[in-house]
Amino acid sequence: MTRDYNALTDDAFRAEVRAFFEAEYPPHLRYILRRARWDEMKAWWDILYQKGWVAPVWPVERGGMGLDASKMLIYMEEMERHGVVRPPDQGITHIGPIIMRFGTEAQKEFYLPRALSGEHIWCQGYSEPNSGSDLASLRTSAVLDGDDYVINGQKIWTSLAQDATHCYVLTRTNPDTKKRQEGISLFLVDFKTPGITLRPIVNLAGHAEFCQVYYDNVRVPKQNLVGELHMGWSVAKALLSFERLAIGSPRRPAYALQRLEKVASARGLFADQGFLDRYTALKLDIEDLGSLYGRFVEQVKGGESLGADVSMLKIWSMDAWQRLTELLMEVSAEEGVLDGIRDFGGVDVDVLTSFYVSRPGTIYGGSNEIQRNIMSRYVLKLPM
Ligand SMILES: Cc1cc2nc3c(=O)[nH]c(=O)nc-3n(C[C@H](O)[C@H](O)[C@H](O)COP(=O)(O)OP(=O)(O)OC[C@H]3O[C@@H](n4cnc5c(N)ncnc54)[C@H](O)[C@@H]3O)c2cc1C
Repeated sequence: MTRDYNALTDDAFRAEVRAFFEAEYPPHLRYILRRARWDEMKAWWDILYQKGWVAPVWPVERGGMGLDASKMLIYMEEMERHGVVRPPDQGITHIGPIIMRFGTEAQKEFYLPRALSGEHIWCQGYSEPNSGSDLASLRTSAVLDGDDYVINGQKIWTSLAQDATHCYVLTRTNPDTKKRQEGISLFLVDFKTPGITLRPIVNLAGHAEFCQVYYDNVRVPKQNLVGELHMGWSVAKALLSFERLAIGSPRRPAYALQRLEKVASARGLFADQGFLDRYTALKLDIEDLGSLYGRFVEQVKGGESLGADVSMLKIWSMDAWQRLTELLMEVSAEEGVLDGIRDFGGVDVDVLTSFYVSRPGTIYGGSNEIQRNIMSRYVLKLPM
């Protein structure tokens, strides 16, 4: 029987989610700092799937929980509180909602249940070696040939492509438009299709977090086009502001602050006025971040859509997170540059990985420089 979680009070829903995570989430996967791989998350996915909790915001008739924005935020807060790690869930968070909104009935029937069950694992093929911030300049081409589009080009930074079975790929279908955004289309690509080569890229921390993906005469059935031909830009950008809210949550910086407090206590640094000054400034920054986040959350709860000013949240959270992990590394002294979990007065802290994982925060989800451009253009309305 389908439950109406939105009918529960916030407190009752929170208690239920918390109890579930505490009882069922594998303890060895709590708070892992790197991107979790599919083989380690699959068992947890199966538990979520059995409970019907894989897709919190998907509609109930599609197998989701049907949560409204306020219940979804509680779900996310409880995940973060218990250290529940994000599985490779782009099928649920990104392409699933895109298919629901822009896809054909056949695409919905085929892809949505398989994303839910974990049979299909999705990755995002947007960025190219010369098209990141300036994504509209992308050059990977898709050309109609009979009943197929033939894709040629190269994608990069495709997160966990090596775990994926499918990729949603932005391509150029019309090179001759006046506005570059107008000749772009989005395709659903099965990674088993001949002509696809993956080359993993190892990040600073030594993890193969993403891949270069080469498309060499890859034939994709024309039914795999999502939305209208040449209209992929608006399809691709449809979900950005909620992603920025998720990235802007204060939980990651708050967790780093907690670690900083443990290390500083173990090292007797709270007696040092110099440290205390820097710590207090950062603590207040996290408080500010919490208030800012709360403001946007209230906006979403009230049913309002988010404006360009949500960029401010992304800038502040990632910036504060980096400053915190820098201070954490500094106060950890020689322990801070050693790989793995170190013992600080009985508390385990992985300083180096904390530092590493905060680095790309100012790049992904739209770099902080780009967010500043958005703020200056659309919020402050400064002349460009
Ligand atoms: C951890 C991680 C995971 C990622 N996962 C994926 C994924 O799964 N799929 C995918 O498609 N992509 C992914 N990306 C790629 C990401 O979207 C791009 O890295 C990002 O858009 C920036 O593009 P770029 O790397 O080409 O840098 P560039 O766009 O070349 O930017 C380089 C620098 O110049 C600055 N800059 C660029 N343009 C301007 C401007 N107009 N004004 C001011 N400053 C500017 C940028 O802020 C940056 O500091 C991921 C990136 C990271 C770090």
